[in-house]
Amino acid sequence: MRYLIILFIVAYITPVSAQLHQQLYARYDAYKEISLSDRRFKPEDIQALLRQLDNNFATKEVGQSVEGRPISLVTYGNGPVQILLWSQMHGDEPTATQALMDIFRWLSSSNDGFDTIREKIKKSMTLHVIPMLNPDGAMRFVRRNYHDIDINRDALRLQTPEGRILKHIRDSLKADWGFNLHDQGRGTSVAGKAASVSLLAPAFNENRDINKSRGDAMKLVRYIYDRLQSFIPNQVGIYPDDFEPRAFGDNIQKWGTRTVLVESGGFQQDFERQEVRKLNFVLIISALESIASSSYKKIAVKKYNEIPKNASRRLHELLLLNVNIEGLIRDAAFDRRETQNITARHYYATGYVSDLGDLRTSVAFNKFDASGMVVQWGKLYPTVFNTVNDLQQADLFALLKLGFTDFVVREPVDKFSTNISPQVNIHNTMPAVVETLRLGSNPSLVFKVNDVVKAVVVNGQLIRLDN
Ligand SMILES: [Zn+2]
Repeated sequence: MRYLIILFIVAYITPVSAQLHQQLYARYDAYKEISLSDRRFKPEDIQALLRQLDNNFATKEVGQSVEGRPISLVTYGNGPVQILLWSQMHGDEPTATQALMDIFRWLSSSNDGFDTIREKIKKSMTLHVIPMLNPDGAMRFVRRNYHDIDINRDALRLQTPEGRILKHIRDSLKADWGFNLHDQGRGTSVAGKAASVSLLAPAFNENRDINKSRGDAMKLVRYIYDRLQSFIPNQVGIYPDDFEPRAFGDNIQKWGTRTVLVESGGFQQDFERQEVRKLNFVLIISALESIASSSYKKIAVKKYNEIPKNASRRLHELLLLNVNIEGLIRDAAFDRRETQNITARHYYATGYVSDLGDLRTSVAFNKFDASGMVVQWGKLYPTVFNTVNDLQQADLFALLKLGFTDFVVREPVDKFSTNISPQVNIHNTMPAVVETLRLGSNPSLVFKVNDVVKAVVVNGQLIRLDN
């Protein structure tokens, strides 16, 4: 009996420590910073959260952006290994910034079963975090800084205050590890699927040589890759590793800091990348634990080379196969673009045709095969609605099944704040409905079998009406 109890205890405890990443994933909601829920938050939102950090952290302003916005450095722990993490060097790449706020909440917590791991991190390393290196870009939700310089091409010339800050911090710390946190395009693919996360141990020269420090970064990348397989199997790729002499990641690797690039990508219909934010939370803490326990060292560098590489072809949002309209059969790919308002706080999405022809080798988040179906243009509903609310009260699914995809609403409609479900096109005046399938056009399409509508495409989105 005693033997059985010991067996039970061992069986119970071992998986907890062996599967930190799964524990973190399962209990993420307890640590999520809920004031951030989409990508277009502002520098003030982050500054407000940093002011609330408890005395586990030291926060200081280490400089200012071109427009005078503070750039902050948050420090945690008192161990000898110096770890530098920076996010949002590109203003429209905010996923990791949100995860860093979640990680701060996790680091501040206690009595939740993670104390041992937090203690290990705190004693073995010091974290130095620059969340949002480019606040001017973040304010406008654009990639570059105020002077339209890409900070990530300024590592040598150092003409941006933001780049100078990063260089100064890196040099003053002589950081042992660097985490360079970015977002990549939603359509970035690996092996025919979305590359929801891509990783890289950047090259430090044209030859892409491997020295001790890059080798360590490669081992850690493989460690992270293995952890992510539980959540996004086959959706993790290696980011292109051409040496870019002007970029920070490559130079920081060259300056002797073991550097890991993390690129947050697309995942299903999660346009605000909240799932990938969660994965950043899991992967960064898992990586820190691995550095603290040296577990990554057991991995062979060659295992890094076995990770699939990001593919060059882009994943479309929607791929319609065998569309029979205008007297010929074509495949049609749709993508989406975002138009943001003047404050860069809100946006609306517009679908558009991005490719036409034989697209059997293309890849997409969503696929629909229209073989044998009758395809028609969506119709304009003849009755005018007074308000969006009136329109929302109508049985839109029933109207879509009758082939009506476009509606007129008399009151002015604010596209930035209007969400209607299911998706239909709303116009202010009687428009000419788009009846052309061409690159850049955004037609509504109706798919029928035996005169029954099976699906519609509205604004680049597929709505199935099978049942
Ligand atoms: Zn970037």
